[in-house]
Amino acid sequence: MTTEGPLPVDFLIAGATLVTMDSRRRVIKDGALAIKADRIVAVGKTSELSAAYEAKTKIDGRRFVVTPGLVNSHIHITGEPLTRGYVPDDTDFDENVFQWLVPFHRHFTPADERLSAQLAALEMLRSGTTSFIEAGSISALDEVADGLDEIGIRGRIALRNWDQSSTDSHSSRDTDEAIRFLVDELERYPARDGQRIAAWPTLIGHSLCSAELFRAAKRLALETATGVTFHMSPAPNDAEWYLKRHGRRPVEYLADIGVLGKNIVITHLVHVSEREVALLAESGTNVAHCPTTALKCGYGITRVGRFPEMVAQGINVAIGTDGNNGSNYSDLMRAAYLVAGVFKDARGDAKLFPAEQVFAMATLNGARAMGLENEIGSLEPGKKADFVFHDTNRPEWRPLLNVANQLVWAADGRGVHSVWVDGVRVVDNYRSTRIDEEKLYAEVQVAGEEIVRRSGLPDRAKWPTV
Ligand SMILES: [Zn+2]
Repeated sequence: MTTEGPLPVDFLIAGATLVTMDSRRRVIKDGALAIKADRIVAVGKTSELSAAYEAKTKIDGRRFVVTPGLVNSHIHITGEPLTRGYVPDDTDFDENVFQWLVPFHRHFTPADERLSAQLAALEMLRSGTTSFIEAGSISALDEVADGLDEIGIRGRIALRNWDQSSTDSHSSRDTDEAIRFLVDELERYPARDGQRIAAWPTLIGHSLCSAELFRAAKRLALETATGVTFHMSPAPNDAEWYLKRHGRRPVEYLADIGVLGKNIVITHLVHVSEREVALLAESGTNVAHCPTTALKCGYGITRVGRFPEMVAQGINVAIGTDGNNGSNYSDLMRAAYLVAGVFKDARGDAKLFPAEQVFAMATLNGARAMGLENEIGSLEPGKKADFVFHDTNRPEWRPLLNVANQLVWAADGRGVHSVWVDGVRVVDNYRSTRIDEEKLYAEVQVAGEEIVRRSGLPDRAKWPTV
C-alpha cells in the first residue's frame, strides 16, 4: 500500500466466496478481486481490498461462488456441434467416426463452421469454460477465428491435418503440404502477446500421421512456444495398428521418434500399457481425459483405463468434452463429475479422484496443458482476469457447506451466471453480452437441418416423429 491512498483499478468484485485454486487452495469468504484491464491485481478479504483499491465499478459478489475459468483440453468446435445428436447412440468407434462424422464434415460450409464454433464457444462460456484446446477439426480457420473473437473466448485452434491414409474414408495430403499447413496457421494466428485466439500445430493423430509430420509439429511447437495435440488409443485399434506396423505400442513409438514432452497433449489414451504410462510420466506429456465419449462409445475406460495410475505417477491429466456426437455436451462441469465418479466405481475405491483434485484438473491442469499455467487456471495477482460467477441462489447450490463437493458433485454449468475473459464480462445474467443468442439458435437449427439433408445420412431416430 502506498502513502498516496487507494490504488486505482477498473473494478472490484466484493463479498464473494472465492475459490482461488492458489498453491494453498484457499477459499476466501467475503472475498474480493481487484481487476485492472485484463489482469487480476489483488485477491483477498473484501475489507482489505476495499481500503487498498479505488475501483471505478464495484460489483456485488455476495450471491456468488467465484472460480477461475475452466479449461477444456479437448473439444471439436466444428464438424459436430451442428449435427449434435443425429448420430445414433449405439455406434462403436469405427461406425461413429467413419460412417457418420467424416461424411458430415464434408458438408460444412465456411459459414457453417463459424456458426458451429460460436455455438460451441457459447456453450462453453455459459457453463464456465473460458479456455479450450481445439481438437483439430477446423476447415475454415479464418471464419472460425473471427467467430470466436466476436464471442470473447480464449482458445487454441487448428486446421484438420494428417498425411497418412489408413482407410478409404480418409484422403490424405502429402507430408510437405501437411507441414506447410502447420506453418501457415502458426504464422496467421501467432500465440504471442497474450492473443486470446491463436493456432497450435495440431494433428489428428491415431495412425494417420507420419513420423516426419509428428516431428515437424513438435519442432514448430518448440519454436513458437505452443503445443501439439492429437488423438491416440481411445479404442484398441490404434495399439493393434502400431504393434503390427512398428512392433511397438503407440506411446512407445512416439517416445522413439521424440514426440513426447511437456508441450504435447494426447487425447484419450484409454488403451495404454503400464510401460506407456511410465513413458508419459517420464516425459511430462499431458493427457486430455474425455470421460463422456469413453462411456458413450464404450471405449472400456472403466475396464482398462489407467487414469488413477497416470495421476499417481504425476502425469498432468486435464479434462476434455470432445465432439458433440461422442459427448453430446460441452459443459466441463458435467465431465468433471464423471471424472470424479467413474474410477471410484471401477476400482471399488471411493478415495480415487476426490472433488478437490478433479476441480484442479478442470482448471490448473488444463492451464498447464495449454502452456498457460502462468496466465490462467487460478485466481492470483498477475494472472488473466478469467473467472466465473456460480449462482448460489439455486436449489443445487444450497445449502453451501463444502464448496469443492458442491462444484463437482452438486452443481453443473447451468448455474453459471456471469463470466469474464481478459477482464471483459462476456456472460452476464445467463446471457452472452457479445452475440444475439436467439438469432444464433435459429441459425444453428437451419444449418444443422441443411447439413443433414446435404449429407444424405439416414434418420435413425427410434421414436416416430408424427
Ligand atoms: Zn476428439
